[in-house]
Amino acid sequence: MRIHLINPSDVSFGVAVITPRWLYVLAAATPAEYGDPSLIDETLEAFDLTTVSSGDIVGIGIHTANAHRGYQIGREARARGAWVVYGGIHSTLFPDEAREHGRAHAVVKGDGDLVWGTVIADCAAGTPRDLYEGGRVAGRSFFGARWDLLPKDAYMFASVQTVRGCPKHCSFCSVWRTDGQQPRMRSADDVVEEIRDLRRRGFKFVVLADDNFYPVAFADLEMARRRLDKSGLQELEMVRKERFELMERLADLPDDMVFLTQITMEAAEDPAFLDAMRKAHIRGALVGVESVTKEGLKSIYKDFNLAGDALIERLKIFRQHGVHVLGSFIFGLPTDTAETFDATAALAQAADVAFAQFVLLQPFPGTVDFEKWEKAQVDPPRIDDIPITRHWLLPTAKRPKIYMPHPSLKPEEIRAYTQQVWDSFYSFPATWKRARIVKSLKARLAFVLISKLYRQMYANTGIATDRARHARANRMARWLARPCRRLFVSPVKASASTN
Ligand code: SF4
Repeated sequence: MRIHLINPSDVSFGVAVITPRWLYVLAAATPAEYGDPSLIDETLEAFDLTTVSSGDIVGIGIHTANAHRGYQIGREARARGAWVVYGGIHSTLFPDEAREHGRAHAVVKGDGDLVWGTVIADCAAGTPRDLYEGGRVAGRSFFGARWDLLPKDAYMFASVQTVRGCPKHCSFCSVWRTDGQQPRMRSADDVVEEIRDLRRRGFKFVVLADDNFYPVAFADLEMARRRLDKSGLQELEMVRKERFELMERLADLPDDMVFLTQITMEAAEDPAFLDAMRKAHIRGALVGVESVTKEGLKSIYKDFNLAGDALIERLKIFRQHGVHVLGSFIFGLPTDTAETFDATAALAQAADVAFAQFVLLQPFPGTVDFEKWEKAQVDPPRIDDIPITRHWLLPTAKRPKIYMPHPSLKPEEIRAYTQQVWDSFYSFPATWKRARIVKSLKARLAFVLISKLYRQMYANTGIATDRARHARANRMARWLARPCRRLFVSPVKASASTN
């Protein structure tokens, strides 16, 4: 009996940017008596189903975007006589769907860290349960990852998690509902030990794959201070203290380590935190800017962000403290007009963000936006007999790019304007200008190369409706990915030390 763990994907690039951490964590959660599981990341290469035999266990982790491919794999694996188990955010939200469309024997809801061993034992005994409640595992019980199982020369950045959960409640995001609003922190010892292991394997760039690296903002502390019951305040202060302690430990790691993370914009009002980030080698952060207008922010319950000129100043603060920003913007909000696209492109340039992504507003299950949208669809349009309220059951090429009716813009206008913003932000002159954030010519060229790869992987394969453009972008990304990887990963030396 073999265990296969699959990260499904419709597109494969040969080399991937970030290690899919969950595969390596579940490998660590697999009891030794079952041997090493076979780990398949389809963003590298498609899974060869002929390797599945009767009695094997096939674990498939899905989020909404890759559920269609995941179900396809599950159906084929079951036809070959395997035990089929689903996990991940999407299965947590729709366990019945995994049974109906993916022929699941079992579904794991919530975190898989602690329950995975039981699932395997039950499958091995031929008695899997329909449903396993993995719950929300405490931070101190998170499993480390089996990085010894990494394939060679495959990833640019490793990923380590330091905290799960986010106290915010943005309407387009499901994280606060699935991972909870209470931050669950891993011990600094465990985080540092894993990073040292990764460095020995040649990784100098590590993504701290957290829902929100800054889980306690000044506004949260202020609110807790006003309450009569001070236990909430003490808890928040403890979380903040532990964040600083972790950063102190990261600061002791070798100077050539570079960490990247995700953070809310509120961190810009906390210079002590930003300085600690810089000392901790955290050089870049994805910041959810989402909208450049006040109305847009209000519409997604993110009015703790700033808009307009104040937003430019706030984003610049990150850079002043040595933390580069990957700004994330959403297009298609009901308040967007034709002018919003140009204004966003201009703001992204003016705010000195190093990278930017411009995503289309999509109703993802588990979010407040999805619930409202689904309720409003009395008789939803169908494609191949699938209602668009279940859009993830369609193959990617058949899914609409825009789902939510917009009061003033047509879907094709939103998509075309968005593509134009990607094109202008990542034009060669604009990219070369941004590349001045690094000093040497070699580093500037590397910056241009990674910008080009980023755009190929995420813009042209994500929002293009033209299949030829999609295929070209995929080929180009495959071609760029290998040299890019060499920029981030060192060859492994037998005597490598992390001290
Ligand atoms: S978008 Fe970010 S800040 Fe908002 S709830 Fe999700 S993780 Fe938290």
